[in-house]
Amino acid sequence: MIVDVVFDLPVPHPFSYRVPSQLRVTPGQRVRAPLGTQARVGLVVATREGEEEELKPIVGLAESGPILSPSQLELTRWIAGESLSSWGSSVSALLPPAPRAATETTPPPPHWSRSSEERPWLLTGGDRERRLLARLEKDAETRGILVLAPEIDQAAAWADRLSAALKGPVARLDSGVAGRQRWHAWMRLARGVVRVGVGTRSALLAPVPAPATLVVLDENDPAHKPPGPPRIHSREVMLERAKRDTSRLYLTAGTPSVESWWRSDEGEFHRSENGPSPWPHVAVVDVRGTLRTHPLSPALRHAMKETLSANGRVLLLVTRIGSAMACGECGFVLRCPECRIAMVFSRARRELACRLCRRTDPAPETCPHCRGRQLAPLGWGTERVEQAVRAEVPRYRVARYDAESRRGRAITRAMGEGSAHVVVGTRAALKAFHGPALVGFISPDPILRLPDFRAGERAFALFWAAAERVAEGGRVVIQTQHPTHYAVRAAAGQELASFYKHELKFRAELGYPPFRRICLITVSGRADGAAKRLAGDLERELQALGELTVYPPAPLGRSPKALRWQIVLKGGDDLPARLHPALSPFLARRREGRGIIEVEMDPVDLA
Ligand SMILES: [Zn+2]
Ligand SMILES: [Zn+2]
Repeated sequence: MIVDVVFDLPVPHPFSYRVPSQLRVTPGQRVRAPLGTQARVGLVVATREGEEEELKPIVGLAESGPILSPSQLELTRWIAGESLSSWGSSVSALLPPAPRAATETTPPPPHWSRSSEERPWLLTGGDRERRLLARLEKDAETRGILVLAPEIDQAAAWADRLSAALKGPVARLDSGVAGRQRWHAWMRLARGVVRVGVGTRSALLAPVPAPATLVVLDENDPAHKPPGPPRIHSREVMLERAKRDTSRLYLTAGTPSVESWWRSDEGEFHRSENGPSPWPHVAVVDVRGTLRTHPLSPALRHAMKETLSANGRVLLLVTRIGSAMACGECGFVLRCPECRIAMVFSRARRELACRLCRRTDPAPETCPHCRGRQLAPLGWGTERVEQAVRAEVPRYRVARYDAESRRGRAITRAMGEGSAHVVVGTRAALKAFHGPALVGFISPDPILRLPDFRAGERAFALFWAAAERVAEGGRVVIQTQHPTHYAVRAAAGQELASFYKHELKFRAELGYPPFRRICLITVSGRADGAAKRLAGDLERELQALGELTVYPPAPLGRSPKALRWQIVLKGGDDLPARLHPALSPFLARRREGRGIIEVEMDPVDLA
């Protein structure tokens, strides 16, 4: 018998081995096989009869039976094809580590069967999690459940929540638990001993028998597509899984991704909204021309003092200094005339560059809109805001929460126990700090000006999350140079649909997702000029495909000897299938040492 095995390697093809006659191997099973100088764990993707003496034999079995059923294996092949990445790397990222010695497994769940199809549900609104829990309690009577959270902390919290609500054991399949325990959790689900699984991306293939109920929590969270394999959004995998095995799928989000909102507009998803939930008073403060001297506007100072004297706690959110250039007087942002996303300002070169089409322009001296001379990146760091707050309210305890201080347990404790009156923090503080009576955005404008077409969506999600988290009767103050931006207005007025209407119009006009798909191709080379030449060859090949928008390759980083070049592409729904034949010769050629090609379909971050 001969087996084709894929490994955690960035190569597009499987490797073939002989199977010693005393061993039985089936597709979906993990084996140890020689690769280079050592034996590595790989997954068998196909078997065939034959005796090819020149092939090396496999060394042994990693587990006594398959860890993936034929339909799960087929789903992993789809993931690799859809993300234009290695089958082996994609699947390795989705399986629990193999035990050291071959261990008894039980057969994976039987072939997924198709029953009636059900459209996925998109749950929005303030009490979405309560509604979800009620549905899960009902579903748990007849089906298995798999809940996917964007981050480990949320997975842990949901595991506790579900175990309490469903009065039963829950298997955790995220990297917050040790590899060995994850393997056992996987096997308990496969055997049907436990019927509820919770995890992060590493739980995407968890063997909950179909038809199941699948959940993607906060489907709009970029953490559902972190860097590295599998290079695909968790939501897309769950949609495909639910479609293949006719499972029920719930997606939840305070502010759904634009892609999901659009699909629900198109009737692909059921949208379950509820009426307006309690909404705080949201004050939008116009700080054009005033924020350069002091981070707190009179309105925010006043709101802060009022909140503190009523024993409320205050959270002030700071955005790291942006790279876009804007006018300090009128708020005008220098955007690419073609792509309409903010251009990136390079101080050293006094130059503006578009991250998408690669256009560069010299930075102007005066504002093209008001002729003011205050053009610069704008923003306040947490330290300076903290100082200003201490000076303003010296009798209150002020704590800082950002990337540097987050490791300090003391601050997290101060936030948890409520001993800090005011916390000055970056975006992450919003998740950590419960029940503030006032959230103040010092200068969220760098988010609105991200050199990314998702800038509006990101800013809107942040404003909305703040409003949802403010204690009842509390308020939100947004200091901005863009008081009339639709993301600001929609968040202030609790008008979810109005945001998407504007955003979808913009995306349709400029050909951004969900109307077209984007692909980023990064070429790295070791030698001078090698990456550039390879990127040039690749570009010609891609141009020849036709019907795609291929932007010219551009260096990543500003060094003249750039070793990394990037090509941005836009195309239709079939973009991966169109690109595959053009890319595979380049991906296979990596061993010739010309350079390495990395492909990122549907990137969540351009900036
Ligand atoms: Zn552009
Ligand atoms: Zn201006």
